[in-house]
Amino acid sequence: MNFAINAPLSPKLTPNMELAHRNTFGLDAYAELAYEISSAEQIPELIKIIQEQKMPWRVLGGGSNVILPAVLPGATLLMNIPGKELIKIDLTHTYLSVGAGVNWHEFVTWSLDNRFPGLENLALIPGTVGAAPIQNIGAYGVELADYIDSIDAYDSQDHTFVTLTKEGCCFAYRDSYFKQHPGRFIVTKVVFKVPNHWTPHLHYADLAKQFLNAESAPTAQQIFNTVCAIRTQKLPNPKVIGNAGSFFQNPIIPAEQYEALIKKFPQLISYPDALGTRKVAAGWLIDQCGFKGQRHGPVGVYENQALVLVNHGGGTAKDILDLASNIQEKVHQTFGIQLEIEPNIL
Ligand SMILES: Cc1cc2nc3c(=O)[nH]c(=O)nc-3n(C[C@H](O)[C@H](O)[C@H](O)COP(=O)(O)OP(=O)(O)OC[C@H]3O[C@@H](n4cnc5c(N)ncnc54)[C@H](O)[C@@H]3O)c2cc1C
Repeated sequence: MNFAINAPLSPKLTPNMELAHRNTFGLDAYAELAYEISSAEQIPELIKIIQEQKMPWRVLGGGSNVILPAVLPGATLLMNIPGKELIKIDLTHTYLSVGAGVNWHEFVTWSLDNRFPGLENLALIPGTVGAAPIQNIGAYGVELADYIDSIDAYDSQDHTFVTLTKEGCCFAYRDSYFKQHPGRFIVTKVVFKVPNHWTPHLHYADLAKQFLNAESAPTAQQIFNTVCAIRTQKLPNPKVIGNAGSFFQNPIIPAEQYEALIKKFPQLISYPDALGTRKVAAGWLIDQCGFKGQRHGPVGVYENQALVLVNHGGGTAKDILDLASNIQEKVHQTFGIQLEIEPNIL
């Protein structure tokens, strides 16, 4: 494909870029045309040309929540916008502005080092700050949405930069306005709003257990360290074994369905949620169907956590999706619950 832009702000272009090291599943993939976006100003002209040429395109952050085909046709925009900045402190909150290309864990570490605690439960989640709002990342009882002030993005449909407030982002469990409008917005900057008065969030059982016998309340740094230790122990390191973290969302089922299921499966692991529905542990459902630790050719289900699908090496998107579909079918037959895939199939 013959495609180049010559503006002074042109993003760096690499044709036929290898992406094996830019997707945590470790799938062999390459991008026909990869553009490294290092400033928001580069985006309007790039999108204009891409749209004029009717090229397919998508944004790639750290590649920790995607399933890639062997070839990504058209343009792949690699998000690299830098910057971490304290913008204001008012009576109740501290506001931090962060570029979409900043590594998420690096930002969480920076926020603690600079005495802006609050995000410690979300430590060690792979990926970039700009991708974090797409599925409203969450872990250990905390969601990104709890700490959002606003988000800057480029709207490729209306050809304009927009600032969405937290309410405008329509955050829900693993969901957002951006996810509901795939291929429309490019997140460029996130403004976080962290309470000045810090309180620990220890209601998540795995985390609470660690501090059960502590003599004093833990500090944010201790929670951060503990979250990192638990995650390192429970989740496979993508550098060692390819994976995208939790492969399925925890399904949310109506109260009546839960009542019927718990009679049949008294060990069912689930949590009540604010709307009176139940969030069921997808990992438990998969485990009960006997998939944990199973290998299906080059891919499989992680031996210590049934919610994580892994690429032992040489697996393709098709191998992963075939296994996922076996799991979905068996879980549906056994429990009448439809599991939804969490990573984005690009
Ligand atoms: C070991 C492991 C553990 C994980 N644990 C968790 C966890 O605890 N909680 C959790 O919620 N997730 C978890 N994840 C999933 C993943 O880390 C998050 O979803 C993360 O936010 C993805 O960031 P990324 O930069 O890698 O996004 P990518 O994988 O590159 O992209 C994900 C999606 O977002 C889009 N996107 C990326 N950047 C932008 C942008 N700037 N603007 C618009 N769209 C964009 C992409 O097009 C794609 O559709 C885990 C993944 C792994 C591998």
